Amino acid sequence: MAKINLLDDEYIILKESGITPDLSMALATDEVIFTNKNIIYINKGFFGDNKKIDYFSLDEIKIIDGNVQAFEVEKHNLKYLEIDFQDRSLIFSFDRGASRQKWIEEITNLIKSKNDSKVTTKCITCGAQISGTRGQYAKCQYCKSEQIL
Ligand SMILES: [Zn+2]
Repeated sequence: MAKINLLDDEYIILKESGITPDLSMALATDEVIFTNKNIIYINKGFFGDNKKIDYFSLDEIKIIDGNVQAFEVEKHNLKYLEIDFQDRSLIFSFDRGASRQKWIEEITNLIKSKNDSKVTTKCITCGAQISGTRGQYAKCQYCKSEQIL
């Protein structure tokens, strides 16, 4: 049985069972976990054992024109949540429709707040581009001077 591994600074935000994968006639036996780092998809076997665990990094979620790519799609007469990552997509359906909207909101909010804290500006000493986290010290890679962003 595969085990779920969380990083030291990783915590669970949402967790849901009764998940149906993107296949027609599939059983709603999978589980999905949304943490501050990943979306973890757990493919459950017939006897409830973890057959396959897939980690999708939140850093790879696509953002197009400022829109986080987590949205609703309709397939196999079911409503699914689709999340687009750099090289792949994750599509699954919830037992309860209300969860889908909640997941879209929570994922969107988390990604947006992560991005909002990133700042790119000019080094006050040499004028080179400098980036980092808002409110924290960043060191210019050219002149090595430090400033609060
Ligand atoms: Zn500089």
